Amino acid sequence: MSQLREQLLQVTRALSELGLNRGTSGNVSVRDGHGMLVTPSGMAVELMTPHDMVWMDMQGNVSSKSNGSDKAKPTSEWRFHRDILQARPEVHAVVHTHSSFATTLACLRRDVPAFHYMIAVAGGDDIRCAPYALFGSQALSDAALSALSERRACLLANHGMIAVGASLPQALALAVEVENLCEQYWRALQLGEPHLLSATEMQAVHVQFQGYGSWKSS
Ligand code: 13P
Ligand code: ZN
Repeated sequence: MSQLREQLLQVTRALSELGLNRGTSGNVSVRDGHGMLVTPSGMAVELMTPHDMVWMDMQGNVSSKSNGSDKAKPTSEWRFHRDILQARPEVHAVVHTHSSFATTLACLRRDVPAFHYMIAVAGGDDIRCAPYALFGSQALSDAALSALSERRACLLANHGMIAVGASLPQALALAVEVENLCEQYWRALQLGEPHLLSATEMQAVHVQFQGYGSWKSS
């Protein structure tokens, strides 16, 4: 059994244990050779085994000889996983969640502005919210890819969020931080209108982050 299948399952379990996904919400992918491994569709995480992770090529083909399980179907969101991995060579893993605070803001169709310096970890001065499109559709993938332009995370209107990384642990860590930022922004909004950092202040943050931790490596 490939280590990557185990790692994909571990990250999927972590998302559930951390409360970022519940039930069958959300999905994860990791680049694997000339294709990708994705989580199975509509399967409770407690029931998933490494065999249920689905290998697909970049055309979206699933072949039973590359997969351990015939019962597992690839995530319904394989299109955005595929399109992000194809368009962004520096990205090796994609995490999608329906975590509560990110999804709450996504239901308001709000971008998250530079209310806190840690917004920089998503790659820019804001986290955009992609326009609404049907789950599993090519339209959702197109909207997500454009909201992710020069970013490592985005919200999906009336749906959830996506975080990407150079590895599964990095994509997971970013998803956790984006959810944290969305909670803090939501809480600040309860009390008033948060003060935003200026473009100059954010520029200094981006410089300060160079060489800090592993946030800038994808
Ligand atoms: P899957 O179970 O097909 O991965 O779908 C969950 C989801 O989050 C759809 O957007
Ligand atoms: Zn979803």
